[in-house]
Amino acid sequence: MNSLQRHPVDAHSNRPTEFDAVVAGAGFAGLYMLHRLRELGLSVRVFEMGDGVGGTWYWNRYPGARCDVESMQYSYSWSEELQQEWQWTERYPAQAEILRYINHVADRFDLRRDIQLETAVTAARYDENIERWLVETDRGDRVSAKFLIMATGCLSAARVPDMKGLEYFRGKWYHTGDWPHEPVDFTGQRVALIGTGSSGIQAAPVIAAQAAHLYVFQRTPNFTIPAWNEPLPAEKQKEWKKNYAEHRRKARDTRSGILYEYSQRGAFDVSEEERQREFEARWARGGANFTHAFNDLFLSKKSNDTAAEFVRNKIRSIVRDPKVAELLCPHNHPIGTKRICVDTDYYKTFNRDNVTLVDIRHSPIEEITPSGLCTRDGKYELDSLVFATGYDAVTGSILRIDVRGRGGRVLAEKWAEGPRTYLGLMTAGFPNFFIITGPGSPSVLTNVVVSIEQHVEWIAACLRHMKENQEDVIEATPHAENHWVEHVNEVAEKTLFPSANSWYMGANIPGKPRVFLPYVGGFNNYSKICNEVVAENYRGFTFG
Ligand SMILES: Cc1cc2nc3c(=O)[nH]c(=O)nc-3n(C[C@H](O)[C@H](O)[C@H](O)COP(=O)(O)OP(=O)(O)OC[C@H]3O[C@@H](n4cnc5c(N)ncnc54)[C@H](O)[C@@H]3O)c2cc1C
Repeated sequence: MNSLQRHPVDAHSNRPTEFDAVVAGAGFAGLYMLHRLRELGLSVRVFEMGDGVGGTWYWNRYPGARCDVESMQYSYSWSEELQQEWQWTERYPAQAEILRYINHVADRFDLRRDIQLETAVTAARYDENIERWLVETDRGDRVSAKFLIMATGCLSAARVPDMKGLEYFRGKWYHTGDWPHEPVDFTGQRVALIGTGSSGIQAAPVIAAQAAHLYVFQRTPNFTIPAWNEPLPAEKQKEWKKNYAEHRRKARDTRSGILYEYSQRGAFDVSEEERQREFEARWARGGANFTHAFNDLFLSKKSNDTAAEFVRNKIRSIVRDPKVAELLCPHNHPIGTKRICVDTDYYKTFNRDNVTLVDIRHSPIEEITPSGLCTRDGKYELDSLVFATGYDAVTGSILRIDVRGRGGRVLAEKWAEGPRTYLGLMTAGFPNFFIITGPGSPSVLTNVVVSIEQHVEWIAACLRHMKENQEDVIEATPHAENHWVEHVNEVAEKTLFPSANSWYMGANIPGKPRVFLPYVGGFNNYSKICNEVVAENYRGFTFG
């Protein structure tokens, strides 16, 4: 019997209305989850808002969009054939190449037939009488499922700041996280780029090369390390692929799920000369590996300062105008406590005659006008605005859905003071409701694909366990959840992370509670804890 025969259908659309599992989102997480659920013989419906699969890499088509984890690592490890077959072209993959890869996966594993595109999950209510989730979408679907799985992404709720006058702007405006599918041509235009996080830093050099003039509006300067991106020779890939499984295993045994050169020494275990040599060597190799030059850079402010000052000196040596260089130097957070950026020619871009850096910390944007924008001290005539203003991270895409658990409890209310989960996977009072890379899990501090795989595999194993033991319902206990939330905070407090006003803390969203969202204890330690929980008969969960 196929799933249509097995399940009631909507008389109007002739679509099935009952599933074993509903998954929201068809990025890396949703696709792999679907694959694993199918292996368990479950009927699944994936709802995806976009009109294609790929998530982050479907939406973020902005100029310069690129992954900052190397291609050979930022990919699925669960199919040996797939990882042997696929050929990457560059050291760091560009958005279009990752999107091609994800589409290839969707075809190769025949995933599309269970994915309903252009459909957003809008509401989900747990019906305790039938122990099922009743799920609604913006297309009018009303379906029920035993399990509801959020694969909605940590960085998928794009945020355009509330800017007075935006509706009257006569030019075009864009958000990097919701970029048009057709190429945007900035030739001859005066362009404003607002925001200098990862996306702004990637986009600036590419837009500058095209536009008549680029104004970069900076509130907070960020640290960025050169990528030194380059073609990835077939020979090098072949070599890596000889031991692919072993590389993956080693990566899973690290704090970030990425094979960096993790130092065993503290910054002050070596002489000043040696310290500089180490930073220099890592700068020359490129990428976020830089922040692992010493093992106490995230723990000791004094050690962190040495790395931060090294980068500031690099900025001063690259950017010709000393005033601009100083403005680009971050001073208000330890290096790495906001997501470290990886760039191509970012600082050099400010040596171009057609690029102006505008400090909006001291002279904030007051309003968008029909022909540009006004800051407190200046007026800018513009043809296009590009918002690189980030996301309502980690919780945003989940809380946009009206989720109600036991007794009609509203998830947004439960999380009003900050998200509460057990292992980032489940939240008490919401049975059979799983989150992939949820708050309280390592998620955005890691190679996210590695974190996704670990979560998907944990959830799949849990559902298998339930099937074998004829359990219908799993739920986190409030006690386990309290304990986990405490642990997440405790671990974060031992590091420098909470000292930065970052999106990790929810600081970019007005009114969002200041809580350190990801688990900073390390991917390797975290997955060990998850395995121990299982070994101890799913400690902290109840079944029914
Ligand atoms: C610009 C950018 C660069 C990044 N670079 C890196 C990097 O270098 N390294 C790294 O490890 N990670 C990076 N990330 C993080 C990246 O999000 C993850 O690596 C990974 O792609 C997440 O996959 P996902 O499936 O969990 O979520 P996403 O890829 O975000 O997919 C979630 C999907 O859910 C859909 N969705 C959301 N809400 C609903 C709803 N209510 N109903 C239906 N569908 C819904 C969205 O449309 C989206 O397609 C980056 C993110 C961004 C934005």
